[in-house]
Amino acid sequence: MGTVITARLLLNVSYEQFSLLEAVSCAYRDACNHVSSLAFHEREYNAVNLQKLSYVTLRDSFGLKAQMAISVTRTVAARYTKDRRKKLEKPVFFSLPQCDQVRGRDWSIDIDKGIVSLNTLEKRIKVSFSSKGFEKYINKDAVFGGAKLVLKKGRAFLYVSVKLNSPDFAFDERKVVGIDRGIINTAVTYDGKKTRFYKGTEVKQKRAKFKVVRQSLQKRNTPSSRRRLKAIGKRENRYVSDVNHQLAKTLVAENERGVTFVLEDLSGVRNASCRVRRKDRYVSVSWPYYDLQQKLEYKASLAGDAVIYVDARHTSQTCPHCSNVDKKARDRRERLYSCPVCGYKGNDDRIAAMNIYKRGMDKIRQTG
Ligand SMILES: [Zn+2]
Repeated sequence: MGTVITARLLLNVSYEQFSLLEAVSCAYRDACNHVSSLAFHEREYNAVNLQKLSYVTLRDSFGLKAQMAISVTRTVAARYTKDRRKKLEKPVFFSLPQCDQVRGRDWSIDIDKGIVSLNTLEKRIKVSFSSKGFEKYINKDAVFGGAKLVLKKGRAFLYVSVKLNSPDFAFDERKVVGIDRGIINTAVTYDGKKTRFYKGTEVKQKRAKFKVVRQSLQKRNTPSSRRRLKAIGKRENRYVSDVNHQLAKTLVAENERGVTFVLEDLSGVRNASCRVRRKDRYVSVSWPYYDLQQKLEYKASLAGDAVIYVDARHTSQTCPHCSNVDKKARDRRERLYSCPVCGYKGNDDRIAAMNIYKRGMDKIRQTG
């Protein structure tokens, strides 16, 4: 298991060093916008082809070194994902002065001396840094990847990707927690004995409010309403992201260390919203699920816990007792699951969590 995090380093630069970093990151940003415009107008999204089209210009007109010219085309190509291309009305715009630095080629770090070495248009420079908030990741055992230099409000930051080495995880059958993600309950967990419910009522109400505002803005369809719509979308995402952050934190805090969290593998579910009742359907379900998943993976790996995934099919229709699959066994109104085969009865919201737990246990037993 390897989790990659991004650590932010504040660079302590002299006036001369700042000028050098400014020159390279402005040239790099302008080069990105040049290639982005090319990609957009030529409908060319392949990094290698973009490189063929722009390499000479990037070297001669923007003054970039060979490696940086290649990084520009890669960075731009990565921003034109298949989903995004269709929706774009103008080229992706790079606003902040920035520059991607390839580990070993452009940048390196000396932990003992507390300095990083960076490439600029003219020469390599060595600068000291502060890793406030990320101290624990910046050490001798850390495995560093690419870095992005970004200039913001007169300060220079280096965003460094760090691969966390997690020691080989030993699965413990006594510490397994199945998690069902949902809308009524943001999550239900089952650990073999206890069921825990994490209420989603407030989240649901808040998102419904966002929806009312969004609809009225959509009807108006003026430039200002479109701007507000965009702002509201961002605010809503931030809200969901906060809720998920809290939930992931709570899930990790409420369980012992060395726990294995079991989640449904939603990558195989074509449309996660089919699991949700019609009147709930305004909620775009898949994004919050994936967001929670990422946050839990991250927090779990920091805590020394693991996250595994199991088949998502029929988790709320399968009897946790006899494994019989019956769609009608679940009475949503009564919030009751009753199995016609073995007679098992139980709260319907916990059925899925129990099945996910069971499938997780099976998986651990098979692999361990
Ligand atoms: Zn049964």
